[in-house]
Amino acid sequence: MVHVEILGGGNEVGRAAYLVVDNNKKFLLDYGVNFDEEDHPQFPLHVRPIELSGLAITHAHLDHIGAAPLLYITGKPRVFVTKPTLEIGKLLISDFLKLNAYYIDYSIEEFEVMASNAHFLEYGVEVENDGFKIIVTSAGHILGSAMIYLETPSGHRILYTGDVNTIQTWTLSRAELWPLKIDTLIIESTYGSTKHPPRHYTEKRLVDAIEEVTDSGGTVLIPAFSVGRSQEVMCLVQAELPHLDVYLDGMSREITNIYLRHKSFLRDPSLFEKAVQNTFFIRGWQDRRKAWKKPGVIISSAGMLKGGPSVYYLKKIANEPKNAVFLVSYQAPNSPGHIILERGIYEEFGLDEPIKARLEWFDLSSHAGKDGLISIIQRYKNTLKNIIIVHGEPDSASNLASMAVEFLGNDININVPLNGDKIELTS
Ligand SMILES: [Zn+2]
Ligand SMILES: [Zn+2]
Repeated sequence: MVHVEILGGGNEVGRAAYLVVDNNKKFLLDYGVNFDEEDHPQFPLHVRPIELSGLAITHAHLDHIGAAPLLYITGKPRVFVTKPTLEIGKLLISDFLKLNAYYIDYSIEEFEVMASNAHFLEYGVEVENDGFKIIVTSAGHILGSAMIYLETPSGHRILYTGDVNTIQTWTLSRAELWPLKIDTLIIESTYGSTKHPPRHYTEKRLVDAIEEVTDSGGTVLIPAFSVGRSQEVMCLVQAELPHLDVYLDGMSREITNIYLRHKSFLRDPSLFEKAVQNTFFIRGWQDRRKAWKKPGVIISSAGMLKGGPSVYYLKKIANEPKNAVFLVSYQAPNSPGHIILERGIYEEFGLDEPIKARLEWFDLSSHAGKDGLISIIQRYKNTLKNIIIVHGEPDSASNLASMAVEFLGNDININVPLNGDKIELTS
């Protein structure tokens, strides 16, 4: 009998952690963290590392990798990852430790033990470990992101999407949905009730808006997540507005260097190289003080304006109507970025002082919308017996479940589990 235990990621976006159990053998898919309202880390349910045949990590975001080093305090399970995932993961975990050391039981040493137990995965190449077969394919989400196909020792076939994007972007090809026979699909549902506008339409709006601002002598600040979104905007500007001055600041610079080291994971390595050549990497305060004084585009973390150099630039350019702040990342409720878009104010400036720069949001999501998620379900419908919907707020997860019932009928087990649930898999 095979079952899946939901250790995290049940009805929540974050701390993905799914334990696949086949008789006495266990394999873990992701082990991430979430954050509570005070921004303190929340960890998934416990698993004894000694019991694991191994674990596989889909990508480097903290909500998928952030708790994994905990397993190396007392154990040494084999971890299956792509190279970019481990390298980007190290940067993000170092930063996570700096900000939250008090709340985290591991240190960078445990990460290093994990790294020394890593087996590197390449897309499409099968590996075997203690009776489990693993194949990963590109998930189209961030560099090195993977969908995991796991065949258990008794032959149950599981596909776990991790975070997935079903459209092509400037940096990555869309998720590769291999023609595999799948019994169980574990699927994310971040946007299980949202349809993104067509990407080319959003990009045209953004390009036109950047051009309007820079043509009239303004500076455009684009606060962006350092992994993925910054590089995406860099490539878009290179492709559509190559004459503009572009500056990159914050952790995005180091991440961009990792992207450069793993060009084979990129959709168009030569476009990426050109974009890097034409982008000025801000190296310190001297550069920073100059960047916003002439027309151009500044791409900087943090994506929600929670700290990072993007806050410095905001303070410098916010008071001039010729400038603009274009947000391109997800803006969590109550984040400074969300408040700016809703109310046109930045709390530190004072509540009755509206920002004069142009403010706009562009949906450049790296997650599939509901139509993309359904297309994954449909791709595997002929053999599917179980669907486990995870990594979504309750509304999104249950909406995806209803759509799945609509498309596939009631012959399939469709689960929207909570943390702690155990799901017996039909085969
Ligand atoms: Zn992610
Ligand atoms: Zn995630």
